Amino acid sequence: MTLKEAYEYGFCSLTQADIEDARTDAFLLLEYICHVTKADFFMEPDKEMSLSEEKTYIEGIKKRCEHVPLQHITHEQEFMGYSFYVDEHVLIPRMETEELVLEVLNQSKDGMRVLDLCTGSGCIGIALKLQKPSLQVACSDISKQALVVAQRNAKALGAEVTLVESNLLENISGEFDIIVSNPPYIPTADIEELMTEVKVHEPFSALDGGEDGFEFYRQIISLSPRTLAEEGMLFLEIGYDQGDTIRDIMSFNGFCDVVVKKDLQQLDRIAIGKLMKS
Ligand code: GLN
Repeated sequence: MTLKEAYEYGFCSLTQADIEDARTDAFLLLEYICHVTKADFFMEPDKEMSLSEEKTYIEGIKKRCEHVPLQHITHEQEFMGYSFYVDEHVLIPRMETEELVLEVLNQSKDGMRVLDLCTGSGCIGIALKLQKPSLQVACSDISKQALVVAQRNAKALGAEVTLVESNLLENISGEFDIIVSNPPYIPTADIEELMTEVKVHEPFSALDGGEDGFEFYRQIISLSPRTLAEEGMLFLEIGYDQGDTIRDIMSFNGFCDVVVKKDLQQLDRIAIGKLMKS
């Protein structure tokens, strides 16, 4: 099969299976398997693929037709310009979360101690360390399997971060200047309505925020004053309609100057507060 024939096969199969972005996914898979850029493809569309490339491409397209996320086939997702390994044990890093990382980068000072809670693939903590090496970063997760992925990413990307297995703050010792987290925040009943790629293939435990979606926020916000330094800051990714409630929970737990920021689509996305202990 030539590159062009493979692409056409991929595109048609994905379209028939009702996969959104059939064009992009058919191409990304080709790019991943044959190591070709768009330019290579357009210059040499009639280049023959090897038999093993052809077989891998067809298998990948079949999986994608069954709504397996492309990132579970290629095992990679770009985040903040870095390539993260992902599998079914971690949430696939989302573009929106990059805004959370940028906020922490903007508001942190050199040498600060940062804790990334519910780290999953490690994307937040690792990107922070790579972008601002003076930060001291710890990444924690309740899932051993997620920590294996985070460890793999930290090693591959050369980020020196400490990994801790912990149910939220349970096993966290020491004091931090910043806690950052993108915890699970989807109300349990709403998970049923998500697309198959997310609902079936991403870890339920990385999505499920309890009955009202606020279970993790309540715990993180009420427990973090024990771990945060005076005037320590909490940075949270939040759901599109969770800003008002989060602001109330943070204010009630001693956080002041709470700011809720909206994302590019004008939806609530990030909450930031400073702890005032006295
Ligand atoms: N911190 C990871 C991310 O932002 C995992 C988040 C999660 O599992 N809820 O992608």
